[in-house]
Amino acid sequence: MTAAGAARTALVAGNWKMYKTEAQAAELVARLVSLLGTGGSGDSAVEVGVCTPFTDLRAAVASAAGSGLRVFAQNMHQEPEGAFTGEIAAPMLAEIGIDGVVLGHSERRQYFGETDRALSAKVPAALAAGLTPILCVGETEEQRNAGDTERTLRHQVTQDLEGLADSQLAEVVIAYEPIWAIGTGKVATPEQAQEACGFIRALVSARSDPAGAALRVIYGGSVKPDNAPELLALPDVDGALVGGASLDADAFAAIVAAAR
Ligand code: PEP
Repeated sequence: MTAAGAARTALVAGNWKMYKTEAQAAELVARLVSLLGTGGSGDSAVEVGVCTPFTDLRAAVASAAGSGLRVFAQNMHQEPEGAFTGEIAAPMLAEIGIDGVVLGHSERRQYFGETDRALSAKVPAALAAGLTPILCVGETEEQRNAGDTERTLRHQVTQDLEGLADSQLAEVVIAYEPIWAIGTGKVATPEQAQEACGFIRALVSARSDPAGAALRVIYGGSVKPDNAPELLALPDVDGALVGGASLDADAFAAIVAAAR
């Protein structure tokens, strides 16, 4: 079976965080495109994307042109425009050819006060601008140890998606990213990843069965070429959000290969 099962196209996205200048971004995307082959992702069974700093977006789009490689931003404001100094709006991203946006990454929740309330507005705003949101959810180590993983995920998924009609739910990609696994080298076991991703799908299915079946749920947290095959083969894991390993073209291409 492909990573995403019969009906779902796997997504492997690289979250570059605050790494790479514009010139470095152009070079890394060009290298990726050459490794992944024509079609960007190399085949239609796997969609591949890079989530870059704002200043790299134009260069990434230019370097990826015609390849099929998707380009995502890492955040946006929920309003389409306004007096919000330092912010970037969804229509600004759409106009320069961006495919989607990461929303609610744990680093934004932890260091920049991103709230589920704001996310409940950002997710529909992204879709309204034609952007695919990659919504990140996940529990802390303390929450997992206290047996609160499902309660945490239920709260995040329910609130972050509350602004969407049922018919829009499957347009979102949800990234399950246990916070204790991000950038730590500690990866969720296949059982933990499957259980949490299956639970997220069930939450969406409770609103709409077809949406739950079509929704892409991806795993993130210390994904590397050596652990990717096992994680990407899980029935409810439809791809990966890759941080550190996405900064190395060969490592990222190896993870994409594992998703095929
Ligand atoms: C991330 O930044 O979303 C992430 C999963 O990072 P890493 O792969 O480095 O754990």
